[in-house]
Amino acid sequence: MAWQGSTRKSRLPTNWASLRRRVLRRDKGVCQMPFSDGRICGAEATDVDHIVPGGDHSMANLRALCSWCHARKSSSEGGAAAALTRVRIDRPKPTHPALED
Ligand SMILES: [Zn+2]
Repeated sequence: MAWQGSTRKSRLPTNWASLRRRVLRRDKGVCQMPFSDGRICGAEATDVDHIVPGGDHSMANLRALCSWCHARKSSSEGGAAAALTRVRIDRPKPTHPALED
């Protein structure tokens, strides 16, 4: 079993496989991630996402996502706190010594 050693399986309901299929069918296998301009991603969905992370496995809280959007969302959830402490380094590129006057 691929999920062995992970806590993920225990957090998902026992009927997750059929729930997941229902969500993908409802969303027509298309990624539902909204962009800032109101359009949705529209790529082929391979994942099912909890819109609000946690224990709500209702259809209203589930949506189909492509793996890219899902990975981006998951990493922003997990890395939100870390991102606040991260400092953006915006230095000009050093010029090669041979090109300096
Ligand atoms: Zn997407």
